[in-house]
Parts: sequence; C-alpha cells; structure tokens
Amino acid sequence: MFSFKKCGEKSCHNFIFNGGLFCLKHCARESHTEKKALEFIRDTQLIQNLNFQFMKFQDFSFSGKHINSCFFKNCSFRNCDFSDVQINQSFFDFSDFENCTFRKSTMKFVSLAASDFHHCTINESDIFHSNFNGSKISSCDFSGNDFYFSAFLNGNLKQTDFSNCNIKKVSFVFSKLDGINFKFSNTQEALFEMSGYQI
Ligand SMILES: [Zn+2]
Repeated sequence: MFSFKKCGEKSCHNFIFNGGLFCLKHCARESHTEKKALEFIRDTQLIQNLNFQFMKFQDFSFSGKHINSCFFKNCSFRNCDFSDVQINQSFFDFSDFENCTFRKSTMKFVSLAASDFHHCTINESDIFHSNFNGSKISSCDFSGNDFYFSAFLNGNLKQTDFSNCNIKKVSFVFSKLDGINFKFSNTQEALFEMSGYQI
C-alpha cells in the first residue's frame, strides 16, 4: 500500500523523500539527505513504502533485501548487486542500470519502464508480471530466468542473451530486437507481434 505525500515545494508533483517534507530534488542539504538514505538502506533489510526518486547508487549492495512498494524512479545504479533480493510492487522507471547483477532474485509486479540496462546480468531469477516497456537493453546476460507474464513492449533490445528462459506470455510486441539469443527459450509461447485482431 502506497502512502506517499506530495513535495512541499509549490507546483512540484514529486513524492516526499524518505518521510521528509520535500522530494529529494527540493530537500535542503541534498547530499546529506541522500547519504542518510544510503545508510538507511544499507542497515535495513525490509524496505517498504518509501520514495528514493532521483538517487544515485554506485558500488552498492542490495543483496538479501526485501523491497516492497517503493519508488526508485529516475535513479541510477552503477556496479550494484541485487543478488537474493525480493522486490514486490515497486517502481524503477526512467532509471539507468549499468554493470548490475541480479542473481537468484525475485521480482513481482515491478515496473522498470523506459529504463536503460547496459552490461547487466540477470540469472536464476523469477521475474513475474513485471514491466520493461520502452526500455533500452544492450550487452546484457538475461539467461536462465523465469520471466512469466512480463512485458518488453516497444523496447530496444541489442546483443542480449535470453537463452534458457521461460518467456510464456512475455510480450516483445513493437520492440526492436537485434542480436538476441533465445536458444532453449519457449519463443512459441511468447508474443512477438499483434495477431488475430479483426474488426
Ligand atoms: Zn519537489
């Protein structure tokens, strides 16, 4: 359940940052606030109902954490470890992921729309009902996962390994696919183009 308030700055529509009065953009002493938020995440296993919009994470470990109903929109993640992470009903839209690793992770109802993934690894993970729509994915290893009912609509996917994946009910409709390896994945159960729509 989301319980976010809007930023106290007039005409700003962002959610308040981490229980304060303003969004991260409008927090006074922004770097101090961001540092406290990083410490909070580092020291907390169950992270829920919080907004971390616009934060930058570098060489940061989310390993073993449970993230429920959180906002990480417009964030950047460089060299971050998401191994053994459980993420439920959270938003990572418009974010950048570079050199990040998801291993034995679970994501359910997670939105990662319009995000960039470059040199990222997702292996041995269950990613259900999640949304990568409009995302740019390049030079990634997404092999050996269960992506049941997730969506990669209208994206730009390049040189990425989707081998040995369950892609049942996964939609790649309107996406540009270039150099994608689907070996041993059930492509016949995925959706690659609109069909059967008749007036
Ligand atoms: Zn604001």
